[in-house]
Amino acid sequence: MSARNGFQSIEVDVDLTDAGNPSIRLSPTQISAFRKCALRYWFSYLLGWREPPTPALAAGTIVHDTLEGLYRLPQPDRSFENAWAIMGTIGKDLLLKPEYEHLGRGANRDDVRKRADLALTGYFELEKPTEIEVDLKDIESDVDAQLAGVLFHGRLDRRTRKPVDRVTDYKTGKKPTGAPLDDYVQQVMFYAAAINDGSDPGVEEVELLFLPDKQAVRRPVYPAAIERVTEVLVETRSQIDESFKTAKWLAQPSRLCSYCPFKPVCPAHQKTSPPPGSAASQQLLSQTGLQRKISAVAAEPNPLDLLPLELSE
Ligand code: SF4
Repeated sequence: MSARNGFQSIEVDVDLTDAGNPSIRLSPTQISAFRKCALRYWFSYLLGWREPPTPALAAGTIVHDTLEGLYRLPQPDRSFENAWAIMGTIGKDLLLKPEYEHLGRGANRDDVRKRADLALTGYFELEKPTEIEVDLKDIESDVDAQLAGVLFHGRLDRRTRKPVDRVTDYKTGKKPTGAPLDDYVQQVMFYAAAINDGSDPGVEEVELLFLPDKQAVRRPVYPAAIERVTEVLVETRSQIDESFKTAKWLAQPSRLCSYCPFKPVCPAHQKTSPPPGSAASQQLLSQTGLQRKISAVAAEPNPLDLLPLELSE
């Protein structure tokens, strides 16, 4: 048992009957999720539980897809009017999907719309997309690498090469401060580490764009930062593998527990909880309305599908 920020962490024995294997490749989102709470990571990634999308998550998806569509247009055509039209189509299509259906009506729909509008409007106050040169291959592109023997995979929002080589991550939530901001910076720094590891000329700067706040956060890429994220990657890989081998995962309570869909069966909160992963625990989670992918083994969940509001934006 250990204490972090006044909360007691506990090691939890899990039931492996329904669990899959850990992903061979680690993404920035997975790393962040595991380091925040290993047990939550286990529920999501190894048991394959999903939580219903929230308005914040839906708005985040809509705005990311809209900006991707916008940057696929010729530079002079990247107007607010065109972005608005793209967003209308994307938003309508998304909210018709069965898993988003509950967000397509009433107050939820208004909430999604308000958040998406705010983020897109904020984006146009932050940048002029008609002045930004970006190659199509640098939009929503996959990044794969092996760093210090550990496989990494991620999908970056945007990379621009002028005036500096920069990786940009869009954020549709509010700009945090302190550790949560450091976590976001670390997540985008993984991309720089992965890209610079090869023969590529190299990313010089990482950038987070907090759209509703109209604020950009930039950090230079330097060797110590690359070294640090590589260490984090290696350490996380080793801890995940060890947890899997021993079937013991650390429940790390924090204020984020308020947004955690697994709280009703979490031994850190419910002392009499059945072992996570057992038939009784699985049944309780089903009763809360959560759904599960059939095979967690093959599951590489969309990171946006399983994180709470402030982690997913
Ligand atoms: S309720 Fe808190 S401690 Fe338990 S799994 Fe969720 S985040 Fe972790």
